[in-house]
Amino acid sequence: MKITKISHKTITIEPIVSFKIASSDDTRTDTIIVKVETDAGVTGYGESQPSKVVTGNNIEDVTNFLTEMDNTLKGENPLNIGRIHEIMNRQYKGKTAGKAGIDLALYDILGKHTGLPVYQLLGGSSNQVESDMTIGIDEPKEMAKLARQYVDEGFNILKIKVGLNAKDDIEAIRLIREEVGPDISLRVDANQGYYKKQAVHVLNEFYKYGVEEVEQPVPYWDYEGMKFIKDNVTQQIMMDESVLSPQDAFRAIKEEACDIINIKLMKSGGIYPALQINAIAQAAGLQCMVGCMSESRIGIAAGAALAASQKNITYADLDSYRMSKEVPGIKSDFTQEGGIMTLSEKPGLGLDIDLEF
Ligand code: MG
Repeated sequence: MKITKISHKTITIEPIVSFKIASSDDTRTDTIIVKVETDAGVTGYGESQPSKVVTGNNIEDVTNFLTEMDNTLKGENPLNIGRIHEIMNRQYKGKTAGKAGIDLALYDILGKHTGLPVYQLLGGSSNQVESDMTIGIDEPKEMAKLARQYVDEGFNILKIKVGLNAKDDIEAIRLIREEVGPDISLRVDANQGYYKKQAVHVLNEFYKYGVEEVEQPVPYWDYEGMKFIKDNVTQQIMMDESVLSPQDAFRAIKEEACDIINIKLMKSGGIYPALQINAIAQAAGLQCMVGCMSESRIGIAAGAALAASQKNITYADLDSYRMSKEVPGIKSDFTQEGGIMTLSEKPGLGLDIDLEF
């Protein structure tokens, strides 16, 4: 089988809830759908969502990369996913969102070629994943209201964005716990918003309200700060912005900087390197989460397949598609009730794409 064409299309993401986080007012951006065609008549779809602040890519970078890859990868066997990553990595450092779009489309092709859904292709036996639902920074009272709404919708795990104002953060967590009761799991994500001693203080306050995991309390480069916090609080500390690649994961483990790694396909460059991150973490006794940027159902279907396939991935934050309007022309076969996602049994990523490229 040979790749005959790689095309891409930029799609508008229309938010339905406001979503403020500590590192930016609104990180959401449009997304790019990737189509990989082959001479065997099998077509795969993927998604490339840039993030200026996390991966350093914007829409233009990614579309340029994808246009170039159309030339570079034409004639390659799409089933040789490792080789295609080697070629992309030899040509470009970073550009992980672009690499992810191609990687996802290749797994979609591999699934269609073998007749297997991607979660099975990756060795998974369970077709279900439990995702949290995220609440952006707002007035503490408003955050508690939204928490109530999500719990009423059936979510058992809430992820609360914090990191802009410690006093408001503590108040928001207090009100949310009061609103949802003791049985709902709460985790927080500070998106690099605290400094290290402040983080220890705030996290100890959060602990009173049963916050179990804390994501990226300090800037991405501060591995030492992360270790300091980890050693001085009770919660599990998760790295997100600090870990993009398998090499970052190795460093995080060597420096004992975290307890959990948040893998995102747009940071890793797709499923193939994401599996490497998870394997490194697993060998060191660390668990992983699969998170997301603001992907449509395509990126989320891939993230859910990855999460379902690996026992060591015990956390999932795959809620972005619920925070924006459904994108016309993009259908996927997974379903969700409350936090429980049930994956498609269709070959590949279980997508039904009706878009003009
Ligand atoms: Mg995060």
